[in-house]
Amino acid sequence: VADAIWNARDPEHVRHFAAFLKPMQRASGTRRLDDELVALETVQAWILTLAEVPADVLEEARRRVLAEGITWMPRPGDLKRHCAAIVEERRRAYYAGAASRIAECPRCFGSTWTEVEIDGVAHSVRCGCFVSVIALEANAPKAIALPAAPDDDEAR
Ligand SMILES: [Zn+2]
Repeated sequence: VADAIWNARDPEHVRHFAAFLKPMQRASGTRRLDDELVALETVQAWILTLAEVPADVLEEARRRVLAEGITWMPRPGDLKRHCAAIVEERRRAYYAGAASRIAECPRCFGSTWTEVEIDGVAHSVRCGCFVSVIALEANAPKAIALPAAPDDDEAR
């Protein structure tokens, strides 16, 4: 799970999120954020909920929410569900790309193993395609954790 990117106490981040929320606020016609104190607390709540979501994922999630044609101000959790779905799509694409790089490898033909000769003896070693995919795994998009659905709690 990803680390926090946004800090609710950082005035720069608060300004960024306040501007980020504006289009949804306008689209939904909410007046909830007109009061400055309410606005600060609301923006901070949004930051706490979305602290680990990268800026480009937030923007794509907002684009999707606005494309739905909202008639109410979304809550932070509404946007976070979109963010988690976007990151999940990216993770799937990332791992599909990695899998096909291995499958199409001309050296191991997807087995991830290749033979090298050391002092006249053949050794099986991991193919470079596998090694590079493992090395790149650190770059895979980090999953966004969502709170358990209310139904899950009731089932316990
Ligand atoms: Zn290979």
